[in-house]
Amino acid sequence: MNLIFLGPPGAGKGTQAKIFLDKTGIVQISTGDILRESVKAGTKLGLEAKGYMDSGALVPDSVVIGIIEERIQKPDCAKGFILDGFPRTIEQAEALDAILSTHKKSIDHVVSFDVPEEELVKRLLGRAEIEGRADDNIDSIKNRLKVFREKTQPLVDYYEKKGKLRHINGVGTTEEIAGRVVTSTGI
Ligand code: AMP
Repeated sequence: MNLIFLGPPGAGKGTQAKIFLDKTGIVQISTGDILRESVKAGTKLGLEAKGYMDSGALVPDSVVIGIIEERIQKPDCAKGFILDGFPRTIEQAEALDAILSTHKKSIDHVVSFDVPEEELVKRLLGRAEIEGRADDNIDSIKNRLKVFREKTQPLVDYYEKKGKLRHINGVGTTEEIAGRVVTSTGI
């Protein structure tokens, strides 16, 4: 089964993707994690991405599309994958459609995690204290939420029109939310 977890920063996409990796072996593909690893390793990709990431801006479409195209062809994706944090723009979604069709794959469900904005800010500031991510500061958080509203929110319509969208309430315990993912996708 191939899924997209769609939602603003702090919605719990990564936490849920990790739960299903442990439960089902369906792999998590997080463009944010891949980019952070590249920044840490000091690769050319990391150097290019760092400035965008620190300010909460999106890394250029061509960069993340290239990452995804390479990643979904790896053997561990044969059983299925969860895209966590990709696509984030209409251009990325269209590129994904083309890539999947080339590789005779498709998306089964797009799970949209609905969480009120005040709750997101609270969670992200809490995460800042625990994980110390460079982009979990108030300026970057505000920018990431704005970027989500402007660039990523239109994907809700995009996938609704394709009949793939499953809205879930993203507020609750990790187990409650995982239960809602199971109910809405059959994973
Ligand atoms: P995340 O861990 O998903 O919150 O991503 C952290 C940061 O990585 C984002 O704020 C962006 O700068 C960058 N990033 C991750 N995924 C994408 C994407 N699909 N498109 C553009 N930038 C991305």
